[in-house]
Amino acid sequence: MSGPWPRRPRFVAGNWKMHKTAPEAAALAREMIALAGGARPRCEVAICPPFPALQAVGEALKGSPFHLGGQNLHPATHGAFTGEVSGAMLAALGCQFVIVGHSERRHGMGEDDALVAQKLRSAQRDGLTPIVCVGETLAEREGERTAEVIVRQTQAAFEGLDQAAALSAIIAYEPVWAIGTGRVATVEQAHEAHQIVRATLDRVVAPGAGARISVLYGGSVNAGNAAALFADDQLDGALVGGAALEAASFWRIIAAAGA
Ligand code: PEP
Repeated sequence: MSGPWPRRPRFVAGNWKMHKTAPEAAALAREMIALAGGARPRCEVAICPPFPALQAVGEALKGSPFHLGGQNLHPATHGAFTGEVSGAMLAALGCQFVIVGHSERRHGMGEDDALVAQKLRSAQRDGLTPIVCVGETLAEREGERTAEVIVRQTQAAFEGLDQAAALSAIIAYEPVWAIGTGRVATVEQAHEAHQIVRATLDRVVAPGAGARISVLYGGSVNAGNAAALFADDQLDGALVGGAALEAASFWRIIAAAGA
């Protein structure tokens, strides 16, 4: 988008995870653009394909209103980190966004709060807007530790960050038990979690900061449940996995977010 990044934009990001080769990903991106039919989405939209498909998808998205994002980055600028990718490399491919601290990396790849905080800062250093994921596991929810986990993860990521930097980030509340399971959080559960995120930002960043940052919901969002979720005043959009791999369903989610 041109001009300054709006405060608390409505936002939908598609996380394609480890799906699609470069040609397949470019074809899906072109399908998305064709479905839009020249219409500008009424919210900001980013597509986060796997690293090897970034260039091809970036080419396909050129001139479209859709932004490009990475799914992860290494905190260093460069160096002997086999298999890793830096924020500068993502930016050079046209990425504006990067997902940081996704639960599949926190719980599947052992990323801790300190590393997520480092990645957030590295993303911003390299000119990318981080989409910072927080969220509790099923055991944590059942153990009534949801608030504690969300507060800890949010605080660890944002503490000490300069206010302007904090306000230019995006947060995704993604309960781990809802990701890829078909078990979406209720609107009430998401609402409550988003309030906890915002209250933490008010305390850690500055009073009122929570109301100025987009907080997305992620976890089994689809074309059928998106409108009900987005009707809640705490939810500014969604981070979408499975339903983003199908152009028509992703487009319906985008339409619901912009309604
Ligand atoms: C995700 O990958 O962040 C996600 C929310 O996945 P899904 O929509 O498939 O649950």
